[in-house]
Amino acid sequence: MLQGKHYINGQWVESCSGRTREILNPFDASVIASVSEGNREDAKAGIEAARHAFDKGGWPQTPATERARLVFKLADLIERDHEELARLESLDTGKTVQESRWDMDDIAGIFRYFAGLADKDGGEVIASPNPDSTSIVVREPVGVCGQISPWNYPLLQASWKMAPALAAGCTIVMKPSEITPLTTLKVTELAEEAGFPPGVVNTVLGAGPQVGAELAESDKVDLISFTGGIETGKAIMRAAAGNVKKVALELGGKNPNIIFDDADFDLAVDYALNGVFFHAGQICSAGARVMVQEGIHDRFVEALRTRMERIVVGNGFDENTQMGPLISADHLSKVEGYVKIAQEEGARLMLGGTRPNDSALKNGYFYMPTLFTECKNDMRIVQEEVFGPVISIERFATEDEVIERANDTIYGLSAGFWTRDSDRIERVSKALRFGTVWANDFNVYFVQAPWGGYKQSGLGRELGKIGLEEYTEVKHIYRNH
Ligand code: NAD
Repeated sequence: MLQGKHYINGQWVESCSGRTREILNPFDASVIASVSEGNREDAKAGIEAARHAFDKGGWPQTPATERARLVFKLADLIERDHEELARLESLDTGKTVQESRWDMDDIAGIFRYFAGLADKDGGEVIASPNPDSTSIVVREPVGVCGQISPWNYPLLQASWKMAPALAAGCTIVMKPSEITPLTTLKVTELAEEAGFPPGVVNTVLGAGPQVGAELAESDKVDLISFTGGIETGKAIMRAAAGNVKKVALELGGKNPNIIFDDADFDLAVDYALNGVFFHAGQICSAGARVMVQEGIHDRFVEALRTRMERIVVGNGFDENTQMGPLISADHLSKVEGYVKIAQEEGARLMLGGTRPNDSALKNGYFYMPTLFTECKNDMRIVQEEVFGPVISIERFATEDEVIERANDTIYGLSAGFWTRDSDRIERVSKALRFGTVWANDFNVYFVQAPWGGYKQSGLGRELGKIGLEEYTEVKHIYRNH
């Protein structure tokens, strides 16, 4: 039985207030769990435990090979409970169980990658102006880390933070999204089973303005790592200024997918679909902004519409389902609001724009794949993150024009483009101002490659070697004689 409680200092504990929160299944709004609802006092207890484990518990001094052993063990346990975790993630988020299985594959690999890096950095001897001296540069764990994750990829996003922090020798307080805490709770149980010392891994449940805000404000937290929306990210940055804690932010995206006339047409259509309809478009890197060169525009729209009509919307536990529901009633209203705004602003609705006409889905938060054409750069549907199964198509004429328009956004998370021209691949990859650029592909990420945003899409990087370095401080030790 999953513990729906906080995990603090190696103990499962109820909230100070005794309050609980019901967790809903987005498929039919039924209650699937009741978990403790934390407040600032609970967050303080989690921080206290992590502080003690870092300052007095010996975790940063634990040999890196031993830390790696525990992180590897956690990866093995995740692999052991892979199917249970995948089903729990689908229950909590509504995404198809196949997508959740892919997430779990990635997650086990993420823990292994960072476990493997834990004991690889032996520091560096550097040249010093004094020949009698020795100068070395070492990396040390940054300290107590607050880790706040979103609801769209609950465990995947948590693992991007948890794995490098533990490998680096930090202690952590995780706060999953209050609407999707189940897989983070399950992995907390697995961390307990793996044998991490008390206080090294803590999980505190609850709402952002309570538990999350305490983590961001606390003087006892050394780093806050946050994935979520831009406005929350800005609030966290302001809160973190109190003790100048380190801030890592993975925020939203509005990601152009640019199709040049000379693209491999069928592949580009395939990936335009894959780029958006995973998890019903609730992906920070969704390629919801599709820009098509005029020579193939009409044919592309038609092909896309035909393929979108065939997307099977339904229960994520049915293996034939290709797209599940949105996360919540509030989010469904937000997506519906954007569709209305797009029509008011003059975009042309080619498909969708409704909830499904299927009584079996009537209690869930479903929305049909939706396609807009005749979209312009200044429309809100083009500039803002809809986070739903909605594609906006813009037409363009030249390479220069499309680069200028694609870069004309406050976001800078990811972008993709399709062409067979090798020189153009060189030029366009350099000209696009985004943290990740895909040529002839979309939405590819892997643990070896850094992930993060230019502009307002974020601060710092997760994954890759740099993902571990973010959890370290750099120290120069100068020794004279
Ligand atoms: P959100 O900002 O509403 O919430 C994210 C987390 O922050 C939740 O755990 C929430 O409880 C917490 N929170 C809310 N208010 C807070 C506050 N005042 N102080 C501290 N914590 C607070 O975002 P969401 O709706 O859960 O997630 C969707 C967003 O996440 C989208 O914008 C998406 O693009 C972004 N996202 C980005 C990436 C990336 O890699 N860049 C990945 C996934 C999601």
